[in-house]
Amino acid sequence: MGILDRLRNERQRRRSERNPIPDELWEWAVKEHRIFRGMGPENEVGLRKLSTAFLSLKRFDAVDGAAINDELKVSVAAQACLPLLGLDISWYRDFTTIFITPDSYTVTQSSTDEAGVVHEYEDEFAGEAFALGPVALSVPDIDASGWGDGYNTVIHEMAHKLDGLDGAFDGRPPLHEGMDGSLWKTTFTEAWEDLKAKLDSPGGGSRGRKLGTSKRRTSMDSYAAVSLDEFFAVACEYFWEKPAVLIREYPEVFDQLKLFFRRDPSAWRG
Ligand SMILES: [Zn+2]
Repeated sequence: MGILDRLRNERQRRRSERNPIPDELWEWAVKEHRIFRGMGPENEVGLRKLSTAFLSLKRFDAVDGAAINDELKVSVAAQACLPLLGLDISWYRDFTTIFITPDSYTVTQSSTDEAGVVHEYEDEFAGEAFALGPVALSVPDIDASGWGDGYNTVIHEMAHKLDGLDGAFDGRPPLHEGMDGSLWKTTFTEAWEDLKAKLDSPGGGSRGRKLGTSKRRTSMDSYAAVSLDEFFAVACEYFWEKPAVLIREYPEVFDQLKLFFRRDPSAWRG
């Protein structure tokens, strides 16, 4: 770690200590969200420290009159910091602002065709992580996250931030020493191809088995099929929210994420 990193960390630590999360609010946040159950006292202490740092470093901006209160901020901070338990707060260094919108919002996208004509169209987002920029999250999607059902917009958007830290949104964050980058790529690409193939097969998107066949269907969110980076973000949601699904569907992906996050949430709930 260089001198600048050390100074930065020291400054972050001092700032965090000045703005601790009140006990009552913290206890509420941990009890409210099922994904924190069984994590153990050591992880909980770590999560609180990370969340305190997160709240002192990040700015929440309300868009269109979205209601932001302390509960919402702590909910976002704690869920955003869960993936950092085995990492540290510097992994979120490339953004400061979190836009909070009252509803899933619509963004006007534009593209230019071969004739040079710009087409504009509207697209709906639950949240969005902009490259090297702010994160946007909607209140209903934050409220729907953390229940242990596999859906977590906060973790999803943070996963994109981790992924893009090396400048490429390719489903591969900067890996730790000793991790095998090509194994990561093969593992995720094969799983993503498999998911796409399952969704393309008859009845692919449904849960459970088709009568008369033992062919396994997928119970992963079909959004993961959109691209390799979305597959990574969705896999992170399952890893922290409902690890059993990821272990069943793509155990090798789970193992790679376990090496990267340096935690095993599947052991928490017994
Ligand atoms: Zn995404």
